[in-house]
Amino acid sequence: MDSKSVRQKFLNFFINKNHQIVDSAPLVNKNDPTLMFTNAGMNQFKDFFLGNEEPKNKRVADTQKCLRVSGKHNDLEEVGLDTYHHTMFEMLGNWSFGDYFKKEAIEWAWELLTVEFKLPKDRLYVSVFGGDEGDNLEVDQEAFDLWANIVDKDRIIFGSKKDNFWEMGDTGPCGPCSEIHIDLRSDQEVAEILGKDLVNNDHPQVVEIWNLVFMEFNRQASGKLVNLPAKHVDTGMGFERLCMAIQKKKSNYDTDVFTPLIACLAEKANVKYGVNEQTDIALRVISDHVRAIAFAVADGQLPSNTGAGYVIRRILRRAVRYGFTFLNFKEPFIYELVDILDQQMGEVFNELRVQKDFVKRVIEQEEHAFLKTLDKGLKKLEGIKSELADVKDKVISGSLAFELYDTYGFPFDLTSLIARENGLYVDEKGFAEEMQKQKNRSKADAVKETGDWTVLKKKNKVEFVGYDQLEAESSIIQYRIIKQKGKEVYQIVLDKTPFYAESGGQVGDNGYLESDSERLKVLDTKKENDLIVHLVEKLPTNVESKFTAQVNGSKRKMTMNNHTATHLLHHALRSVLGAHVEQKGSLVNEKILRFDFSHFQKMTDEEIGSVEKMVNVMIRENLQLDERRNMPIDEAKSLGAMALFGEKYGDQVRVIKFGESVELCGGTHVQATGNIGYFKIISESSIAAGVRRIEAISADAAEEFINEQLHLLDEVKSLLKSPADVKTSIQQLVEEKNQLEKEISALHAGQTQNLKKEILASKEVNGSITKIIKKVSLPNADALKQLSFELKNELNNLFLVLAADIQGKPQIAVTISENLVKDKGLNAGNIVRELAKEIQGGGGGQPFYATAGGKDISGLERVVEKALNIV
Ligand code: ATP
Ligand code: MG
Repeated sequence: MDSKSVRQKFLNFFINKNHQIVDSAPLVNKNDPTLMFTNAGMNQFKDFFLGNEEPKNKRVADTQKCLRVSGKHNDLEEVGLDTYHHTMFEMLGNWSFGDYFKKEAIEWAWELLTVEFKLPKDRLYVSVFGGDEGDNLEVDQEAFDLWANIVDKDRIIFGSKKDNFWEMGDTGPCGPCSEIHIDLRSDQEVAEILGKDLVNNDHPQVVEIWNLVFMEFNRQASGKLVNLPAKHVDTGMGFERLCMAIQKKKSNYDTDVFTPLIACLAEKANVKYGVNEQTDIALRVISDHVRAIAFAVADGQLPSNTGAGYVIRRILRRAVRYGFTFLNFKEPFIYELVDILDQQMGEVFNELRVQKDFVKRVIEQEEHAFLKTLDKGLKKLEGIKSELADVKDKVISGSLAFELYDTYGFPFDLTSLIARENGLYVDEKGFAEEMQKQKNRSKADAVKETGDWTVLKKKNKVEFVGYDQLEAESSIIQYRIIKQKGKEVYQIVLDKTPFYAESGGQVGDNGYLESDSERLKVLDTKKENDLIVHLVEKLPTNVESKFTAQVNGSKRKMTMNNHTATHLLHHALRSVLGAHVEQKGSLVNEKILRFDFSHFQKMTDEEIGSVEKMVNVMIRENLQLDERRNMPIDEAKSLGAMALFGEKYGDQVRVIKFGESVELCGGTHVQATGNIGYFKIISESSIAAGVRRIEAISADAAEEFINEQLHLLDEVKSLLKSPADVKTSIQQLVEEKNQLEKEISALHAGQTQNLKKEILASKEVNGSITKIIKKVSLPNADALKQLSFELKNELNNLFLVLAADIQGKPQIAVTISENLVKDKGLNAGNIVRELAKEIQGGGGGQPFYATAGGKDISGLERVVEKALNIV
């Protein structure tokens, strides 16, 4: 069975069990501060488990793109070295939100694997949770009994908290789990060692394929487990491992999920897969990593220097590095694999198909840049090697290895590999120390301690009323303390709030909470999954009192102007540049709007002008806001609204329309475009391969900007004594200046020639040396150099010292004919350094020509005297 059919059969099985199939959530997590990337199928359902939100369907199933390269679940170091852990993988899952529990989950899993997929029962083992004293949890007897009805008791294994108690992160939903493992070894191997003894022992052919988690608890920051409001099922099965089992392979990389990628790479590298361990690992690493990188970029995460973007950049560099070192790829090569990836996965994951060209460009440029840095790093290593040529202990210090790592992106193993090839050693301990120092530094910056919520009232969905009003009567339903950078602040959740939480590029609101007795500042508002969280400096004295929640209206108004202007800008860009323009990011606050979009060239001045004009026309048309709060997503799309990749949408969406501009948007907007008043683009630039950025302003800020420009023009005019035509008179000024410069340099040249004659006249021939030592006045340093070189060309056996006054600054030039350098051992560099002491300066150069500058012009006479005594 090919992999496409495996995936479909899984989904069909659960459709038949009344499950709704949902889309994979994006790889990059936007609204969950505890998680950078989606690491399991359950992430997108976290709020259902916690009881923060009601699910529409109590049974769902899907295939979820997961990435395990950071945080609690991090498999990066294993990937490629082993044959069954990936960075990005698909997790097939089925869920029950307070509906069925252990019995159905266990029986259906067994039915699917053994009846539908026909996996051999005598090669399957299951595990159940064996209890944990620390957490005061008992053995999962219920799961054991359910399994005992289906399989032989000696196929059931009790597991510890490490293997059989699943947790998403340090905090959050969790519960005991039951895993299904498969033994894929040969009959002969099975006869030698029992499969059961190899379960959970890192054997590459005795692997876990499916984990059934029975969600019952929430792990709090204090470590305490609290019961969830209901019991849920959360299962996750590795799609690539399932394919390995069904296709009877010994490695995920031998399934049709990976063979086309490996074949293409092996051909390009001119190697065979399965012959050499080192090249095999490289082939696996690259064919794995390209998936993670391509899907991250397709979900809107560009490689960058911070956060999630940096993790993606490091994965890419790891792949480039393996290709460079073991497969001899010296040019970008990873981006070319995206075509194959698209053939295999583009049908199921449309985001890759429609953005294929964009993804390829981003990867190619990133590869190109890193290959250049690799090259620079290699040159640096070469330099170190020659420096160490005469040293006995050929050790590259830890701090140098760290510099290579930190600024050139050289992983430590690469440095030591290259070092070994060159007969050098790297101080590993020193490197580890530097690494630790850096970790401590960044920890100190980022440490954030989050306390547990104190819940005052339980409420299923917090009400956001900020589309219609800037004030509301509210009370606190939960709060907690946050410690960040040594400061304590509080987060509070209100039952009803007019505060807009930062999202969709729009910043969060600030304002006040007011009760009869006090007034608290709300610093910012953010989202945590679907909670709206307000940041306040301190808690009110009475947390149970009623408050008037009050949004800072002027900030909100300016932000709304900019948000609506962003929509108009998006529309104008697509009209002027074409339909390939897609939003790649945006920032909207009270001062500025920033819009990133896909487009492959710099915009011309005309294009920028047309876009700006079109937006201003739409503003003057005073288009009325047409807002639909709950439109089915398909209807919204048929109106022309574009869903953004990397965003998660529900079935019902909010649609914002201004004339022909239609967007899916949760932000706040003006009632009519006329409110914006005026729109002005202030810059257009590139931020990554194929991504441009426009920064613009609107309303008062745009008016101020224009006024400032006009004021500047007035000042220029008055400097020019108010000519009738400013431009012509500036042009004339520039031309005059050029003319004058030419005349001056001709004058200087004449003077220098005169000076040269004078100097030549002063030469003293003394045996085999022609000596000229003179104090001169020259217009600039170039003239000094030119004069010295001309004299050197005209005179043999020259020893020339010019002590120059250059517009009031002292400079010395020492020039010596090559034969004197050789025969008499004279060195202009050494001499000039000695002379420079007299003018309180320093300098250097080559043995035949050196210069120095200084501070003390009165020292020039002494320079001449000193020089006379040298030769
Ligand atoms: P393992 O112990 O093998 O690392 P796990 O305990 O981390 O697995 P879970 O967190 O239970 O795995 O994830 C559910 C399923 O997802 C696993 O049974 C496995 O099939 C699959 N899986 C987990 N991690 C990876 C990975 N890095 N690459 C591919 N598949 C994975
Ligand atoms: Mg794991």
